[in-house]
Amino acid sequence: RQRILVVGAGMAGVQTAVQLREQGWPGGITLVGAEPHRPYDRPPLSKAVLLGRAPGSAFDVDFGALEVDLRLGTAVTGLRTGDREADTDAGPVPYDGLVVATGAEPIPLPGAEGVPGVYLLRTLDDAERLRPVLAGRREVVVVGAGWIGAEFATAAREAGCRVTVVEAADQPLAGALPPPVAARMRAWYGEAGAELRTGCAVTGVAASGTPDDPVCEVELSDGSVLTAGAVVVGIGARPATGWLAGSGVALGEDGSVLADERLRASAPGVHAVGDCASYPSARYGRRLLVHHWDNALQGPRTVASGLVSGQAETPVYDPVPYFWSEQFGRFVQYAGHHTGDDEMLWRGDPADAAWSVCWLRGGVLRALLAVGRPRDLAQGRKLIERGTALDPVRAADPSVPLKSA
Ligand code: FAD
Repeated sequence: RQRILVVGAGMAGVQTAVQLREQGWPGGITLVGAEPHRPYDRPPLSKAVLLGRAPGSAFDVDFGALEVDLRLGTAVTGLRTGDREADTDAGPVPYDGLVVATGAEPIPLPGAEGVPGVYLLRTLDDAERLRPVLAGRREVVVVGAGWIGAEFATAAREAGCRVTVVEAADQPLAGALPPPVAARMRAWYGEAGAELRTGCAVTGVAASGTPDDPVCEVELSDGSVLTAGAVVVGIGARPATGWLAGSGVALGEDGSVLADERLRASAPGVHAVGDCASYPSARYGRRLLVHHWDNALQGPRTVASGLVSGQAETPVYDPVPYFWSEQFGRFVQYAGHHTGDDEMLWRGDPADAAWSVCWLRGGVLRALLAVGRPRDLAQGRKLIERGTALDPVRAADPSVPLKSA
């Protein structure tokens, strides 16, 4: 009986196992995950789980019924593609097909690793460590005004913590959104009672006090020093692919597994999916490394199809990327992918509670950001998918449904 080994039991790994059975894989499936917990969903970690409003976010999947051999608390340490064997800390595991789904790991703040009171937010354990910070209303410095930093700041403000967010760039979400859009989001911090300091890097963190009640001194590039009971670092994540070093599986400079348009890696029988893999997008004319939940949901269908039905039957993977974020009481959604060359137009007044931004190229919708306008997002996503041209004047009128613009 042939055996597929899925490495990484997050969203992408679990969905791969589910999809393999749904698509009729008759052989064995082994799902190996480094974390000891029952596989769980990550987005609630910076929302309900962090605030203690949900005990956890375990996936509702019956691995026994799916005949998935689930091995938790087991890290894969290396891969020998010639022997078709993976090495784990519990011994070697042979495979016929292998799926790399090891996700991403947060980038630590240089020099602050291991300092008491400094936290990352990626895993359930991280969220559980942070709960007492919120429950104790400790004063918090958040490093990085990206998606995770904004969501953590939201939760911490809701819990009643004093929050200062320090961002090295001149605006929040600098890597993702252009200045006029990000400028609107800057105001959200102040409205929620969080202080946002941009253009300012953290140059050092030192802690005194006790490990249970640390006092962190955060040094900034402008010479000032902030004192806090906790420092939460949200400065990005990189693919968790260190274990593939020397395996022959080609990795990009960003550390991602260089998958092809059907999510196959460079070694025979090896596929890669989710936060650890990049793939060439014909739609956007470049390779994409997507660190969002929807990609970890959709990619596994392609991987399972390739393994079960063969490549000829498998459609190319090139979806319209999508993600959402819940920050400062707003539901923010984004679909597609834009560049500085695309024409940007506002749909609605960004001073209002709900508005959208469209990015067009040659009149065709390429990407859309919706704040509190989920219908724009749903319609826009389909228009992007189909490559539909829009009338820019009608598209800028929020009273005209986007699909009729
Ligand atoms: P992961 O979820 O990272 O899972 C990979 C798993 O592999 C991990 O459990 C890891 O322990 C395991 N692993 C790693 N190395 C090994 C190894 N060598 N051996 C065995 N196992 C290994 N996206 C959105 O679109 N919207 C949101 O609102 C949103 N909120 C988020 C909030 C937080 C706090 C975080 C951290 C992420 C959020 N995301 C959100 C992103 C989304 O959760 C990820 O894109 C998604 O989890 C990716 O799934 P994955 O399975 O590829 O990787």
